[in-house]
Amino acid sequence: MHIPFNNSYARLPSAFYQRVNPTPVKTPHLIAYNYHLASILGIKTSETSELNELFSGNIIPSGATPLAQIYAGHQFGHWTPQLGDGRAILLGEVVGTDGVRRDIQLKGTGRTAFSRTGDGRAWLGPILREFIVSEAMHALGIPTTRALAVVTTSEPVFREEGPLPGAILTRVASSHIRIGTFQIFAARNDIRNLKKLTEYTISRHYPDVTGPLGLLKAVCNSQAKLIANWMSVGFIHGVMNTDNCTISGETIDYGPCAFMDAYDPNALYSSIDQFGRYAYSNQPNILTWNLAQLATALILQMKKKEKAAEEAIEIVKHTTELYQLNWKQLFLKKIGISTPKYNDIELVNSLLKLMAENQSDFTNTFRALSYDKPNKQFKKKSEAFNRWIEKWKARLSNEKNPNTLMRSTNPAIIPRNHRIEQLISAAIDGDYSQFNRLHEALKMPYEEKTDLTDLQRPPKPEEVVHATFCGT
Ligand code: AMP
Ligand code: MG
Repeated sequence: MHIPFNNSYARLPSAFYQRVNPTPVKTPHLIAYNYHLASILGIKTSETSELNELFSGNIIPSGATPLAQIYAGHQFGHWTPQLGDGRAILLGEVVGTDGVRRDIQLKGTGRTAFSRTGDGRAWLGPILREFIVSEAMHALGIPTTRALAVVTTSEPVFREEGPLPGAILTRVASSHIRIGTFQIFAARNDIRNLKKLTEYTISRHYPDVTGPLGLLKAVCNSQAKLIANWMSVGFIHGVMNTDNCTISGETIDYGPCAFMDAYDPNALYSSIDQFGRYAYSNQPNILTWNLAQLATALILQMKKKEKAAEEAIEIVKHTTELYQLNWKQLFLKKIGISTPKYNDIELVNSLLKLMAENQSDFTNTFRALSYDKPNKQFKKKSEAFNRWIEKWKARLSNEKNPNTLMRSTNPAIIPRNHRIEQLISAAIDGDYSQFNRLHEALKMPYEEKTDLTDLQRPPKPEEVVHATFCGT
């Protein structure tokens, strides 16, 4: 087996991590493997027995420097002074055949110094959810961590529901540096390491920027784009804590997340989010809140703190504008407009209002716009919708190929929550056919396929999933 490790995080001071090996498992069994991603990473082996041992953490491949990263974070707005990889271990980094440096991390590999009261393990449900949703996100063209492999461990994991099958996910990310990574050094007033982290992050992710404020600006930009992208596909992350907000601008930590079915600006699935902090339409506000925490951490290393704070406030404030620009551009494309004119956005807003009143399916309504009978998605207010269609069609007469644009922006298929729940139930019983089928179907989300109608339709009333539980 050969993995071309080229590790840089492990060369940072020991305050950044704990060196720790995965805890071996009894009988690992590979159930999903992303061969295409493996080949980009330069992983050569395809022997199942080797893959079982590798992706369970039972063997440490040569060149790996296993470690658990330290970080802190605001969870639901509350400060937690120390978090860290409590159930994940970074094996190391590789520079792929595309020249991109990526982390290879195992999730569910046993206790580390940061496990607190947790067992360091994961059960099959959240692991399959992350595999499906992160790969779907990638196929949709939205920045995200990716899923390389899933193994079951043949060891039970004990949760409230009782014993559940244990599993390990291999996650690939352009890095696992989060806002919380900066927060831990700032909170400890460890300026030396805060500076080291800033330099390291700039050289790894934004080599063209200078200084802490340059980094802040770059992160605001990437994250504004990311959240606008989420909104454009109806994605609700569910746990936008500062430790789940990457510096790279990739989506990370697929816990109680979901793509919404019926359009509802207040949609929320997380069972632990009592007050709707991370509801769909609150995501851009939370982003600004999170970036303000990053700014607070970053400016601590600057000499003229007051002046730096003033500049940082302006940078963070500007994120709202950046977000709105991205949002408008994406939603205009969703209705077929590539050359925006003054007030076009009114068409988007009035459509969303109608969709909310009518509880229209978010994905299918937008997709239907590029086909003959979009009004099929509207049950109640069809007259108002027909008037909207007339206005919109008149506007589209000035656009070139709006249908092609709409079909490349409005997915035909998303990983619906009820399908994920169903495939998890089947997988617990050892049947992976639904998992494999959905994974395959999501690889080309903008293509129209006739044999996927059951995966495209919204849940029947008895299939609706009202709450998604945390990923632990
Ligand atoms: P998350 O909700 O996945 O972002 O996790 C929040 C924090 O809790 C992270 O520091 C995790 O490493 C830790 N954590 C979550 N589940 C477990 C577990 N089963 N064992 C140990 N630590 C965990
Ligand atoms: Mg997390």
